[in-house]
Amino acid sequence: MKPILSISNISKTYKKNNIKALSDISFECEKGSVFSILGSSGSGKSTLLRLIAGLESSDYGQIILNDEILNSNLKFIQPENRDIDIVFQDFSLFPNMTVKENIFFGKNAHKNKSMLQDLINITHIKEILNRYPHEISGGQAQRVAIVRSLGNNPSLLLMDEPLSQLDNNLKQDIRDELITIFKTYGITVLITTHDIDDAFYMSDKSIILNNGKLEQFDKLINIYKYPNSEYSAHIFGNSNIIPRDYIPMAKHYFNKIPLNKEMVSIRPEQFIINHDKVVDDACSIQCEIKNITDTGYKYIIKMVYKDLLLTAEIKNDIMLKVGDIKKFHILID
Ligand code: ADP
Ligand code: MG
Repeated sequence: MKPILSISNISKTYKKNNIKALSDISFECEKGSVFSILGSSGSGKSTLLRLIAGLESSDYGQIILNDEILNSNLKFIQPENRDIDIVFQDFSLFPNMTVKENIFFGKNAHKNKSMLQDLINITHIKEILNRYPHEISGGQAQRVAIVRSLGNNPSLLLMDEPLSQLDNNLKQDIRDELITIFKTYGITVLITTHDIDDAFYMSDKSIILNNGKLEQFDKLINIYKYPNSEYSAHIFGNSNIIPRDYIPMAKHYFNKIPLNKEMVSIRPEQFIINHDKVVDDACSIQCEIKNITDTGYKYIIKMVYKDLLLTAEIKNDIMLKVGDIKKFHILID
């Protein structure tokens, strides 16, 4: 499918402090897809969204949306003339306007009344339409910000950590509402997040940024299972990074730079205790258990294998104690 958004070789240096926030970023998004942008703090996530929105200009590179060049060496389309909306972490509602006025402020809002009505229903904000931003909760404010930006029916919606200010229950509710909205309207979305669960729930593919560089870009499950670096592996949660020559049966590995050493990422849940029925010793390692935490439904085990301290998560349906030496089978596909 032809991409709706195409980013080529985008680089950005902030002149005042000479920080290179992005280097040579390229990727494409298909229409109706939801992409997450992940990376540690300062890796360039917000800068990337701001460049696409036109709130910053790039050093070089090109951004194309719907076949129109928004940004290149020769061209810069102003943010208000881009078919893009952005939702910020701090909601950015107009304090002197009611919720309803905020929602209908957008340039296309009046053309999209029925969509807005739908969005108001999905996000349960009907009762607060006549209130001012200081009279509503954080969760409601975020819903209003989301409805306002979608009311313009943009070709591309950018969301910068939209759920990070919300407590867990609220976050899950809003996340579900967002998924419903994205699916109902086939909206193309780029969303930055710290939370890997949010990324898994909401997005199809993920862009991993590391210090301004694109570390990996793929479907989430591929990055989870086959990270191309230690950084990508750890962005997606806990992982044991093991030299490949310790587990030669592993098929997927990456080169650890600058050592140029082949390493394998093994997730804690890839270990199982090697009961008799599992006979494939080629995929087993013998470990000494150093610590066991029983979380109620699983054990989190710290164990030593050669010179490594590994973490395993296994079902707590067997007796284990510190000091035991056990064979652990590694599930490798
Ligand atoms: P993230 O959103 O991943 O935390 P940012 O895009 O905000 O990362 O920042 C990337 C880098 O650019 C950081 O080193 C940050 O300090 C720097 N930076 C961000 N915004 C500005 C700015 N307006 N002026 C100067 N430096 C900035
Ligand atoms: Mg940011």
